[in-house]
This record gives sequence, C-alpha cells and structure tokens, in this order.
Amino acid sequence: MNNHASPLPVVPAIIHARCPRCRRGEMFTAPMYGLKSQRMNTTCPHCGLTFEREPGYFYVSMLISYAMFVAEMITLAVAISVLTGGSRNPWLYIGIILITGVALSPFNFRYSRVILLFWLTPGLHYHPEMSGDKYTSDK
Ligand SMILES: [Zn+2]
Repeated sequence: MNNHASPLPVVPAIIHARCPRCRRGEMFTAPMYGLKSQRMNTTCPHCGLTFEREPGYFYVSMLISYAMFVAEMITLAVAISVLTGGSRNPWLYIGIILITGVALSPFNFRYSRVILLFWLTPGLHYHPEMSGDKYTSDK
C-alpha cells in the first residue's frame, strides 16, 4: 500500500499530489484520470498526516475549485474567440466550455485540495525529517 518513492522537490510534489509534510505519501488513492473514482487517503501513507485538518475542511477547496473553474472558462472563452476570429455563435462557446469543464473537473478536484494543503494551510510545512525511509508514523 505504501508508495515509498523518494521525497520530491516542491513543484513535482505538487504536480504528483504528494503529502505536503513529507512529500512522499500520495494524497489520492487513484490516478487523476483512472477508472476508479476520485478518493483521497484519509492520512498520509508515509508520515500519517491527517489531510482533512478539521471536519469540513475541504469545503474551502470547493471554493478554490470554483475559482479555478471560472479562471479556466474565461481563458477558454478568450481562446475560442481568438482562434475562431471572434465567433458570435453562443453554442460554440457553450459546447466547448461544457466539455472542457467536465474534462477538467478531476483536475480541479485534485489541485484545489493540493493548493489548499500546500499554500493555504497555516502551520503545515515540509518536514524533511519525516521524509526519510526510517521515519514511521505514530499518528
Ligand atoms: Zn506525509
């Protein structure tokens, strides 16, 4: 069950959704675009960090994913307009935005939680001493 790859520098750790404290344990149980549903580990498989810092903590990540969605859709609408030479067909925009919104939802789900834990959680930092092979969680 444990995935004990080496600890990662911060950017790859974010891309691969590793635990923000040890950068080794996986935050999610399945790949982003796998057949399994999106589920998060309750605790880090390596250092035992509880990802949901308090009950309801991930409601905040829903706001983050909403902000990500809005930013993506604005970017997309501008891109469609530029690429089509200023198309005024609303169905073109609605169709592409709906399809892209569905396609991006696992991405937004995952990275809203990563952003929350890496940047928006006070007191949660990288602890190199917890990323070693010998470190075992005592919760
Ligand atoms: Zn960890």
